[in-house]
Amino acid sequence: MKDKNLLMIPGPVQVDPAVLHKMGVEMFSHRSHEYETLQADVCAGLQKILKTNGNVFVITGSGTAAIEFMVSNLVASGEKVVCCVNGVFGKRLSECVKAFGGDMTVIESPAGSGIDLNGLKNAVKGGDVKIIACVLNETSTGVFNQIVEVSRIAKSVGALLLVDDVSGIGNPFAMDEVGIDAIATATQKAIGAPPGLAFAIFNEKAMEKARKTPHMNFYFNFETFEKFAKKNQTPYTPPISILLATKKSTELILAEGVDAFIERHRKCARCTRAAMNALGFRLFADPAVASNCVTSVACDFSVELVTKMKQDYKVQIANGQDELKGKIFRIGHMGPVDWKDLLLTVAAVEMALFDLKGEDKIGVGTNAFMREWLKR
Ligand code: PLP
Repeated sequence: MKDKNLLMIPGPVQVDPAVLHKMGVEMFSHRSHEYETLQADVCAGLQKILKTNGNVFVITGSGTAAIEFMVSNLVASGEKVVCCVNGVFGKRLSECVKAFGGDMTVIESPAGSGIDLNGLKNAVKGGDVKIIACVLNETSTGVFNQIVEVSRIAKSVGALLLVDDVSGIGNPFAMDEVGIDAIATATQKAIGAPPGLAFAIFNEKAMEKARKTPHMNFYFNFETFEKFAKKNQTPYTPPISILLATKKSTELILAEGVDAFIERHRKCARCTRAAMNALGFRLFADPAVASNCVTSVACDFSVELVTKMKQDYKVQIANGQDELKGKIFRIGHMGPVDWKDLLLTVAAVEMALFDLKGEDKIGVGTNAFMREWLKR
């Protein structure tokens, strides 16, 4: 019998068969009424999940494409931007801002901790900062950044707040209530669809800013996207199959209920952490800012552990990235993930620990996981 693979990385995530099934249909024109209804439905679903009335732009590409759409249309060359960096994706966001000519100050904080709010407050003191940019969920470290506080700081100086929300869905977050002006997100994380489709969402303030910002782009030109979005179309050919899958996956989230969906992510995170603690690992992310979507675990043999789990037990978790490679491993728990997936993942960690270190902790992590799960 084929040994089934279990994908537990922080994106792309497992995709529900009902979602995958939606992709296996004949193509139709992206200039048809059928397509317009599809795009309208996907955008309306996303608005509900992100709790926003913002304008949704459908972007063909991965999350980085939506980030580039957001940055290239909202950051004018020479404009003062403060970017908060506490991991790989914050750094990449800052590089994108730089690529489009933003006059950037980086507020850096150590990996595993949240955004340096005092540093941010000091950086915006001059009053000439036009834009603050940050990552909502820093996937490289498992940190859910303090977005409410960052938004308050942005408001206090009238700066526009741009957020990389590629992996943030599944955490408690309401775009309009928190006061985010623009976000970028993608399908392959908690939305639970295949990769290749992304979204940028702009509130009215961001729309106004984009209309008057000179931009150095072509494919992602704001005016063209705005014109086509009014007809529920994209300027260029969209990935229709992934849109069909995303329509289904957003319907599944809405049927579960957005709050119940977030609560499931929170519980998966809590139980995974209980299991890792019971196995004697140190959690890498500061518990005060730990994400619902990914658990990062300090481990100096993480490369061996991740390899062993994949090769021998067909359970795939992720290594640390860049300088955290070999120092942490990461377990993704976003999208259509449930306790059974995580229990098997914890069991595979236990077996790999036994294989690699001769440590007999069989049943210790799984026991802690199940006991935590039983707490309602
Ligand atoms: N930002 C965050 C927070 C991410 O987690 C990722 C991918 O993991 C990206 C950006 C890049 O997204 P993509 O690989 O879809 O371009």
